[in-house]
Amino acid sequence: MQTNFTNDQLKDKENKSSETIIRKCVHCGMCNATCPTYNILGDELDGPRGRIYLIKDMLENNKPANKKVAKHIDRCLSCYACMTTCPSGVNYMHLIDHGRNHVEKTYKRPFLSRLIRNGLSYTLPNPNIFKILFLISLIFQPIKFILPKFIRNSLDLMPYKLPSKTLKTQKIYSAETKKIARVALLTGCVQRVISPEINESTIRLLNRHGVEVVVLPEINCCGSLNHHLGKSKLAHESFKKNINLWYEEYLNNGLDAIISNTSGCGTTLKDYGFIFRNDADLKKKAKKISELTKDVTEYLEESLNLKFKKDDKEYKIAYHSPCSMQHGQKVHSQPINLIKQSGNKVFDIPEGHICCGSAGTYNILQQEIAKNLLKDKVKNIEKIAPDFISTGNIGCMTQISSGTNIPIVHTVEIIDWLTGGPKPYKLKNL
Ligand code: SF4
Ligand code: SF4
Repeated sequence: MQTNFTNDQLKDKENKSSETIIRKCVHCGMCNATCPTYNILGDELDGPRGRIYLIKDMLENNKPANKKVAKHIDRCLSCYACMTTCPSGVNYMHLIDHGRNHVEKTYKRPFLSRLIRNGLSYTLPNPNIFKILFLISLIFQPIKFILPKFIRNSLDLMPYKLPSKTLKTQKIYSAETKKIARVALLTGCVQRVISPEINESTIRLLNRHGVEVVVLPEINCCGSLNHHLGKSKLAHESFKKNINLWYEEYLNNGLDAIISNTSGCGTTLKDYGFIFRNDADLKKKAKKISELTKDVTEYLEESLNLKFKKDDKEYKIAYHSPCSMQHGQKVHSQPINLIKQSGNKVFDIPEGHICCGSAGTYNILQQEIAKNLLKDKVKNIEKIAPDFISTGNIGCMTQISSGTNIPIVHTVEIIDWLTGGPKPYKLKNL
């Protein structure tokens, strides 16, 4: 695509990088075919190609965003299906991140929209504050039918009871057998509050196979929630803190990997190197953190020799591949291969490349589109009629479980269970 940035504009490194991305686009429109929002809304500006044009126009002409641009940029799920489809290798992820930042800096949203976005940005990345919000939500669950639709829909995404924790919070979880590796675990901000069993399964499984796990107590959020809300200042505060803390741990005590069991966060961690590519102080450290980051299933497949135990029953499992995992990190076969090693049948969900509608805070901010996507996802899952669903992202778990009674568990819970850990409580009736 031809661009018309001035030399002065290109002195800005973010503009320069976006210009390189835009020039790769040959405006063929193939990406529209797999874009969920284009398929639902049928508007060119709700597809990747249209959004590229909108971002190009704002950046080249130094234009502030307006209501129309913000609407179409906000409707993007950041699912990156377009990146998997694009034959020209357009890095839409970095471009939309730049576009969101520009919208956030130059467009004043209506009061209510600002209130909701600021509220999400403040509460979700902070586990202590989010826990309070979660407890309040439990009080309102039985009477939510009297609440406005927006709040009712948001409450539908929250669990109905407080989860019980079975592992004590500590910094170091020692290997149970001869230590073969040492990893850091990102326990996530929302995940640790509503589904602590995912981190517990991860720790148990790794410890049982000789891996020491370090959980740095100062690390709360990877920063991706604010990053995708376009709140770059807040996001960068989290990024910098995490990079410095993990790098120090890597230098002082050694780390073989940084494990993410939430694929949305893993995608951002793997992007720290790019985000700080122009920062003289952080560039080397950020690159190292990104190189060390592995999705838990990637790490299990590459680095451990898992010892599966045969269960009496063979289960039919539908595997939901989170967008951030399949399109963002290109991790798809690893979780499927691992579950297959346990002797169970695993099925890809039809139209599995299409988002379930979770997408960070999308199912709160864009409820109608998210519900549409959820309806299709559930319909496709039900075609398989699985005993249960496996996936690797807490956002997808909350979204999908709000639309079906088929139990959904994290892949690591299944692997933990089938290599000697406890059966996930959500599967107790199977
Ligand atoms: S598929 Fe790639 S090259 Fe074609 S319009 Fe979409 S982003 Fe541009
Ligand atoms: S990231 Fe997803 S929703 Fe956004 S343009 Fe690409 S395919 Fe469409």
